[in-house]
Amino acid sequence: MHAWGMAGVAAVLWLVTGPVAAAAGFDGVTLQIELDPEQALLEGRFEADPGSVEPESLRRFRLDPGIAVDTVSLGGQAVAYERSEDGWLELVRAPEPDAGALVIRYGARLPALEDARPGSGFLDSRGGYLPPGADWYPRRPDAEPHAVRIELTTTGGHLVVASGSRVAEESNGSEYRAIYEHPAGRALAVATGPWVSGERAAGEVTVRTLFPEGLEQGFGETYRNQAAGYLQRFSDEIGRYPFDTFTMAASPRPVGLAFSGFTLLGERVIPLPFIPHTSLGHEVLHAWWGTGVYVDAVDGNWSEGLTTYMADYQFKRERGEGREERGQWLRDYAALPAGEDRPHASFRGGNSGAARIAGYHRGAMLWRMLEDRIGAEAFRAGARTLYDEWRFREADWDAVIAAFDEVTDQDLRPFFAQWIDRAGAPALELTDLRREERETGWVVHGLLRQADDHDPWDLYVPLVVDTGAGHETHWVMLNGERTSVSLETSSRPRAIAVDPDWRLFRQLAPDESPAILRQAALDPDTRIVTLGNAAAAEVAPWLGRVPDIAEDSDGARILLGSHSSVADWLEARGLPRNPGAVEGDAGTETGPRAWTVPETRLVVTSGADGDARGDVAAALRHRSHYSYLLQEPDGAWRTGLWSQPGVWQRFDDGE
Ligand SMILES: [Zn+2]
Repeated sequence: MHAWGMAGVAAVLWLVTGPVAAAAGFDGVTLQIELDPEQALLEGRFEADPGSVEPESLRRFRLDPGIAVDTVSLGGQAVAYERSEDGWLELVRAPEPDAGALVIRYGARLPALEDARPGSGFLDSRGGYLPPGADWYPRRPDAEPHAVRIELTTTGGHLVVASGSRVAEESNGSEYRAIYEHPAGRALAVATGPWVSGERAAGEVTVRTLFPEGLEQGFGETYRNQAAGYLQRFSDEIGRYPFDTFTMAASPRPVGLAFSGFTLLGERVIPLPFIPHTSLGHEVLHAWWGTGVYVDAVDGNWSEGLTTYMADYQFKRERGEGREERGQWLRDYAALPAGEDRPHASFRGGNSGAARIAGYHRGAMLWRMLEDRIGAEAFRAGARTLYDEWRFREADWDAVIAAFDEVTDQDLRPFFAQWIDRAGAPALELTDLRREERETGWVVHGLLRQADDHDPWDLYVPLVVDTGAGHETHWVMLNGERTSVSLETSSRPRAIAVDPDWRLFRQLAPDESPAILRQAALDPDTRIVTLGNAAAAEVAPWLGRVPDIAEDSDGARILLGSHSSVADWLEARGLPRNPGAVEGDAGTETGPRAWTVPETRLVVTSGADGDARGDVAAALRHRSHYSYLLQEPDGAWRTGLWSQPGVWQRFDDGE
């Protein structure tokens, strides 16, 4: 029932999901990969028949120069080839269609986990990873995506997973074999580890965890159940999940990565209680956006914005936290120095700092604004069209736009062009307000304008009127620098605001934009003022770098020292001594803390000694979207934003 001759071996057959055809009958590329974690050895065999695979595509391959090629043969006869230092393996000529199978045998010793560069491959007893795009097999980038079958063997008690659907597997003592098939694979990935397997069904899909024993016992079932729910949800929303199996595998690295049919999650990430309810859903959705419909990133990577919008953001919205999430994105953007502001189209990858804002936040807000413009039903139809037309093909922005354009009567191209290609963001203002009572109700008059009069944004702006009885939203088209508005309301209007719920990607007004700690991390020119024995390196766990020392306080600055030394320094400059002096709520705790000084570009980090300040720096890595961070006596971190007047303009009622 399986591909390897196991006659005479007492094999324990775990599971064969269907009859496995012999490799020779497979109409595509077959890879045989053997991984020996103890020896850190990879042995590979590539096979493709030019009778069924385009012969011209079998002339030239990407293969890591660190991999040794044993033989290249055609129909059983050795053939000449050349290798270049920049990673190409090239035959003298393309094989004839009837020449028989092209076979490339190769092998390599892989680095151990701690010797591998971040993102590159490794193999040892703790696990192994062959990343996409790392040329660990003879790869034909121009022929991708293509059908592929991956036959894997691993020893030392490891299990293994690869891109595609699992079609068979078996275990024999400490040796394990599995077969994966992909109808249209691209940039394939493999992972292995000392895992145990757990499974459940989700409709026709097998959901599986490959975790180390301890993690399986603690979290396996939770992950399988959550993943099953996500697969069902996104299949209903977008279209059927494109593989037969979905695997969540543990990695010794602190990652969250999505591949066709599987995701890799860090061993230290898996126990975090929020991951199954947040990041896991994001990685599952990449089976549709990213590894289902592939990204042609020539004019930008569209998949992270759409995935963030349809997974992370919707989960927040369903918990009643959508507005707060949008506000956080806009506050992050407000904290970004102008020189770091990039258009969404510039995003190819990376998930921190300015790249995260350009790729994830701008992207998610683009989809939020599109849904406001075309409605939820059209949005969903567009997503289904994109998936239906582009599954297992490489879609660029034009393809994505066309899929959504197709399902509406509007011309969506200008909308997309503006939000993809343009950096910056509109700044809005509502002036000349007056209200008027008529026989049928009330009318509010005003002038809506945007700051950029050279190249105004094309906007669909929500104006919200508070009538006392509730909030009424009026959508206004703003195509030029200004437009006059007249809004009819049934009840007496009390106040009005431009986009108070942050539905537009825009510049926050000063009255809705508290300074946040992240400003110091987002500005590459941030420098540091150290007092007493404080050392600039104390903030490296947060910034990822040691900032230069500053003698002055003119630009973006971190002020570092003991509570009393920073208080004296601030007082000498007429600034609040501590967070409690800015806002009473920010307390009088004596523990280590970080806070922004309003109306300056200062972030203050203080604590009794370097260890205490180092704890603040570590905590800031995940909490810098606040104005302050204070350690309470029990060691817990308290966070908050400086309160702001907000953007509501009241009509003078004399009430
Ligand atoms: Zn992602």
